[in-house]
This record gives sequence, C-alpha cells and structure tokens, in this order.
Amino acid sequence: MTTPTGITAGPRLIAYYGRVSTSLQEDQKTIDNQWMELNELAEKLYGKDGYIVVRKYADEGWSGDILARPYLDQLRQDARAGLWDIVFIYDPDRLARRYSYQELVLDELREAGKEVHFKTRQAPKDPMEKILYGVHGLFSEYERMKIAERFRIGKLRKARSGHIVLSDALYGYTLVRKQGKPADADFIETHYIINEVEARVVRMIFDWVGNHKLSLRKIVRRLQELGIRPRKSKRGVWNTSTLSSMLRNETHIGKGHYGASYATVPKKPFKKERYQKVRKTSRQMKPKEEWIIIPTPALLEGEEGKALFERVQRQLRDNYETSKRNKKNHYLLAERLRCSCGCTRTGEGPQKGKYLYYRCSNRVKNHPLPPTCFEKGISVPIADEKIWGKLTQLMSSKELILQQVERWATQNKNEAKTSLVNTDTLRKEISKLKKQETRYDEAYGKGVFTLAKLQELVKPVKDKVAELESQIVQDRSADKGQGDNSTLLPSEVEMLKPSNPRLLNDLSFEQKREIVLDVIDGIVGVPGKLTVSGFIPVMLVSPYQYDFSFRHEGSSITTYVKLKTSDRYCRTPERRKVHPF
Ligand SMILES: [Zn+2]
Repeated sequence: MTTPTGITAGPRLIAYYGRVSTSLQEDQKTIDNQWMELNELAEKLYGKDGYIVVRKYADEGWSGDILARPYLDQLRQDARAGLWDIVFIYDPDRLARRYSYQELVLDELREAGKEVHFKTRQAPKDPMEKILYGVHGLFSEYERMKIAERFRIGKLRKARSGHIVLSDALYGYTLVRKQGKPADADFIETHYIINEVEARVVRMIFDWVGNHKLSLRKIVRRLQELGIRPRKSKRGVWNTSTLSSMLRNETHIGKGHYGASYATVPKKPFKKERYQKVRKTSRQMKPKEEWIIIPTPALLEGEEGKALFERVQRQLRDNYETSKRNKKNHYLLAERLRCSCGCTRTGEGPQKGKYLYYRCSNRVKNHPLPPTCFEKGISVPIADEKIWGKLTQLMSSKELILQQVERWATQNKNEAKTSLVNTDTLRKEISKLKKQETRYDEAYGKGVFTLAKLQELVKPVKDKVAELESQIVQDRSADKGQGDNSTLLPSEVEMLKPSNPRLLNDLSFEQKREIVLDVIDGIVGVPGKLTVSGFIPVMLVSPYQYDFSFRHEGSSITTYVKLKTSDRYCRTPERRKVHPF
C-alpha cells in the first residue's frame, strides 16, 4: 500500500486527523500527544524533510459513535479535492468507534486514492491482512461493548442488592464512598447519610408546600431572601423544576431508586443542528415498576413524614391542574414568538383585567433575580390577527407566490449546476472502478487466484459501479424535474391559483395553528413591530403535491395545501424575511 520513499519527487503531502471525546482542557494534551506520535511516525517513514503536514484536523469533544463530525467531514472533502496524499491517524478508534464506520471512511479514502497510516497498527496490505484487520476491529468493538456491559451489570447488581450507585448525593444527603475491598472485614459500601444542614432546608420546603400551600415560585423567592443557595447553580438561585423533582423524590421517605430513566435520542430536538456531539441528549422515564428501590435514611421520618410527603404530592397535582386550566387560552403564535432580547415570548392569561399578552420570558427565567429585559407585553388578539391577516394575504397573492417560485427556481438551477459537477466526479470514479475490475480479471487470467476469489473481489466493485450509475440517472432525472420547475409554463402559473382568503379565515384554531407552526420560522417582536421569517407556501392548491387538504364545511371544494419543503432546516436559502410590519 505504501509507495517506497524516494520514488516520488519532492516531499509527501500529508494530513493528520485526531479526535478526543470531551472538550475538557486536559484533553488538549491528548490531541497534542496524538500529533507528536504522528510526527514521529511520519519522520520514520519519510525522513525529516520527506514530508509536509498540509493540514491537521481535530474534532474535540466528539463521540466516536457519530460519523458526522465537522473536521472529519472536512477531511473527507479535502481527500476528494486532493489537498494531500496521505493521512495519519493515531488509531482506527479515533476515526470511529464502530468497525463498520471505520471501514466506511477507510474505503472512501482508498477510493480517493489516499494512503492511510495508523500509529498503533499497520494498514492491511492484502486481502488476508484485511480480513485479519477486520476481525481484530470487530473483536475490539465487542470487547469495548463487553466492558461497558459488565460495568452496567455491576452497577445494576449493586443497586439490586440495595446499595447506592450514584456518584453524587441528593441535596439533603452526603455520599460516603466505599472503603476497602468487599472481602475485608471492615469493608464499608457506598452509602448516604443525612446532611443535617441541607436536611433542615428540605424539611422546610416540604412544610411550605404540604402545610402552607406555597407555590414553587414563592419558595424560590423565599430561599433567595434567606440566602439559601442550591449546591450547584451558576446563578446561585433555585429554580422551580429542581424544587419540583426534589419534592417528588421518594428518597426522602427512605425509598431511593436507581434506573428510573434512560438516555434516548430526542424525538423533538430543541434545535436541529448539522453536527451533534452526543446523540442521546434526552432522558426518558421508565415505568415505576421497573425502578430499583434502594433503602435510604428517611429525611421525613416515620408515619408523619410519609403523610407530609403525600400531602405535598397532592398539592403538586393540584397546582398542575390549576395551571392546565389557566392554559385554556388560544395563543396562535406560541413557540414562534421571540422578544428582541432573544428570550421567548409566551402567552400569559389575564392577570389583572381581561387582556392576554405575549410576555417576554426573561422575567420568569431570571426569577427570583430581577429581570434584565423591560420590553412590554404584546397584545395577543392584535398580534394574532395581524400575523394571520398577513399570512392569508401572502397566501392569496399570486404576485408574491410567483416571486417565491422564481426564487425557488433560480436556486434549483444553481443546484442543478452543482449536480453536474457531481456527475463528472461520479463518472471518473466509475472509470476508476472499471479499471480495477479489469485488473482483477487480468490477474485471474494469469492464474493468480481462483474463480470464486475473483467473484468475491469483483462483486463489491460491480455493486459500487451500479450504485454510482443509478446515482447519475437519479441526478439526471432530478435535473429534468428541476428544469420543468424552473421554466414556469403559463399553464403552470395558472395552476398556482392562490387560495381563497375567506376559506383560510374559516379554518379552525387548530388548523390555523398548524399552518402557523409550519409556515413561520420565527417572529421577533416588541410592541408595535413584528418581524416574521418563514416560507411562503408555494404549492398551494395544486392537487398533485400537498401536505394536507381540507374540505370547506358544507361545500364540495377541497383545498390542497403544500406548506413547504419538509427539510426546512437544511435549506436556509429559502428562509427569508417576509415582511416587517
Ligand atoms: Zn425580552
């Protein structure tokens, strides 16, 4: 695989790739160490002046489970662009934790004609070595999983036998770490003891809710006034969600638990980003029957303590019901409206008087500290009417829809151009693969290997060629489709009949809300000025493509609505300021 030194003229162009899974400062050292090791290897292979490091790619804070990493992507792109000839990586593990992912990237680099060198092991030279290498990769993957699994099972066993496995104690408790080894006579398992100073605070909070029916917001303020700080908090003040989970935690009545939740990939990510450092950022609760109960010293003692705990649970449920009742107002712009300060604006029911307002959440967020934004509330009926009015106007204006279609068409043309470039590279790749196939055929002809072996070698090449060819066909038909779209025929312009504004106004609140959520990206607003960004739904009333349709009550007319492209996060060019008003 390696070309012997001295044959090529001039120094070799090389790149380094490194990855550390946390962005902690101490890991900078790890990255530097990786570079040092790679320098050593490069020098050994090519001599001091035999190479030039063109670029170093470092993904810091990225899990090896995820292949979409900014610098790895850059590396793959640069490989295709031919920025360098050889890439040095400390260990295949840095590339990806999973063997199949490693192979994917390695194959791609090989296809781009790049050499890959690892410090920790030799790149495979022949098919036999490749198989060995693969087996090795699978084994280390298995080994890693086994270790993780053993660790998890160990924790589970410990929890099942009633011992604390958490690394940090709940507020109100102190964690005493295990001492000695299980075989020792004086061995002490990890356990909780009551932290008397914090326990007094916890008991006080339970009393406030259970006996005095104080709201959590009031408690937050009281704690702030008393100068009682939570253990960990940047702002140094409590927040209602911490209090709420504290008040629900049965550890306080002697029932600690383990395994109540597990990590998952979020269903509705708060923000959809191109790159994610960790996949499973969300936590899902397990049914309570599956929790492992660990006996803990009760902070709320005896029957009296249990009764207080129950009273608190009832009070929390009541609070929840009340707040749900208060939420019955219709806020058309909820989740889409932001304040000029960047905080969300949420609908607030009538507090004094009969008016509903979208208020900046800065005040709530900073509670109990003073607010830092002083923008006034925006009247809900006025804002809803204005925005909806504007939307219906946009959706019923042929000129505006045409404008949007034209913008869309120009963009598609540009995309078509880029896909032509892709077709070229695909063709080049195909011819390269075909050459490879011929070489295999020749080798077979010379009796280098058996027919079975030939078939085994040629199959992936053939598959790849087929895949690339189908990609070209797809690109071409996509080009055609785009062509049809970009030159709007008069009949097509006619087809884009704007919808009837009256019809749009007769929609139910839920239907309107659905449209708002889909069409509007965000509104930034202060009283008197709302700036909207979103999409104009270009495909309105075309019965060929639609997201949803609705039938006007008491009539046979069906209206088809195509709201927008589904992958809105990926297509920022379509995003535009619609109208400041
Ligand atoms: Zn604000």
